[in-house]
Amino acid sequence: MTRQYAHYYAGGSFQKASGTEAMPVVNPTTGELFAVVQLCSPADVEQAVRSARAGFDIWSTSSVEQRHTALTRLSAALAERADEAAMLLANEMGCPIWLGKLMQLPMPLKGLEFTIAGLDQITWTEQVGNGLVERVPCGVVAAITPWNFPLHQIVAKVAPAIAAGCSVILKPSEVAPGAALLFMEAVHESGLPPGVVNVVWGGPQVGEQLVSHPEVDRISFTGSTQVGRAIMVSAAQGLKPVTLELGGKSAAVLLDDADLDAAVPAVVRLSMANSGQACVSQSRLIAPKRLLPEILERATSAMSQWPVGNPLEAATRLGPVATQGQFNRVRTMIERAIGDGARVIQGGLERPENTSQGFYVVPTLFSGVRPEMEIAQEEVFGPVLSVLTYEDEAEAASLANATRYGLSGAVWSRDGARATAFARQMRTGQVVINGAPQNLATPFGGWGWSGFGRENGRFGIEDLLVYRSLHSA
Ligand code: NAD
Repeated sequence: MTRQYAHYYAGGSFQKASGTEAMPVVNPTTGELFAVVQLCSPADVEQAVRSARAGFDIWSTSSVEQRHTALTRLSAALAERADEAAMLLANEMGCPIWLGKLMQLPMPLKGLEFTIAGLDQITWTEQVGNGLVERVPCGVVAAITPWNFPLHQIVAKVAPAIAAGCSVILKPSEVAPGAALLFMEAVHESGLPPGVVNVVWGGPQVGEQLVSHPEVDRISFTGSTQVGRAIMVSAAQGLKPVTLELGGKSAAVLLDDADLDAAVPAVVRLSMANSGQACVSQSRLIAPKRLLPEILERATSAMSQWPVGNPLEAATRLGPVATQGQFNRVRTMIERAIGDGARVIQGGLERPENTSQGFYVVPTLFSGVRPEMEIAQEEVFGPVLSVLTYEDEAEAASLANATRYGLSGAVWSRDGARATAFARQMRTGQVVINGAPQNLATPFGGWGWSGFGRENGRFGIEDLLVYRSLHSA
């Protein structure tokens, strides 16, 4: 039976959306309708903004202890929904069940833990001479999020807003809305005062209404660079600060002493997971020219460990890409890369075996990629890894920095100090050295076309605070 997402959340209660449009959510495995989202009308959005304004008046004066309690309750309410989240995301965006269980809810729960810890790490007031410097919430935040790790992106914005004492209107992606429904339910159970968190359903129009609304003080956006640019232009009219978490074209650099047996499968994993639909996807592998044959051999072998199939089946490592639009875009980019002279080592345009339907793209490995090619410059957001080669370390650094993006990256060397020195040459928001685990307590965000502003832990809270100085006679 088709699921119906018909209620938005404002003023602490579920309200029937009254927009005239409904958006289909298509299961990318079958191409069949999975759910229908009833979009919000302008009046619904208006109500959510009014409710957030009232919520701000209450929550901006809350104590750190109250925020701590609210976030802890929210975390507990979300944790109960782990299996449901994995199942929904398999059906709405093709995320394999194993990955859903491993990351889709555990990652935001970990993030919440660091946000809660961050509350105690902030210097909320400071005496400077005769001035009392306070850090106060910036106001009503519009949080606009994408679909690829939908719960993580929702929590990465809403949790720090709650911690900062702000109120929020969340506009989740219309592509995978089920995560937002689970989130709304958890918010409702958490006992937050009415209006602190509000959720509206909609696409670009609803997003634009929020960005340009005079009662919205601050925009926090995660999504494509193209939409981020449009949001910044619109927010400029109201002189609203924006946080933009945008696309990436991250490089994994193998120095000539890298442990290839560890490094190559790790890079393949970080370029393939979630069918390459990750902003931090390591989609460029920068390899020493003399080691290219060994690297390609290992990459081919590692890719064969990523069978494509139905996301609900345990053996599947890669599901389909999320939408027909994604499918068309990724295939077009593969076609154009071939036209530009990149060499297909594995994958390409064929359908995976045993699939006659669904938005499947097979893991694809390109060699002979030159830095000026589109495939080396633009985000694919699909399971495509491009190998570029270098002669010396200076060229490796220059290649790593040869795109306008700068979100993530990686470097591998048996010599940790050498790897760290190389990482310092990379113009990017984070660098993973020798396959280190992700650290959600550190600031996350981009340089250049990957955006600006930071999320995670205390840094995400600080992003939503402003200074106020009280000068005493
Ligand atoms: P998108 O930019 O198409 O949409 C993101 C959100 O913006 C959606 O909720 C959408 O409805 C809304 N939107 C679209 N047009 C709008 C407008 N004119 N005004 C206001 N809102 C508007 O991105 P997507 O396809 O959902 O997600 C994929 C992109 O997100 C990729 O580029 C990926 O790299 C990026 N991303 C970045 C991060 C990060 O942290 N840097 C994380 C995940 C995804």
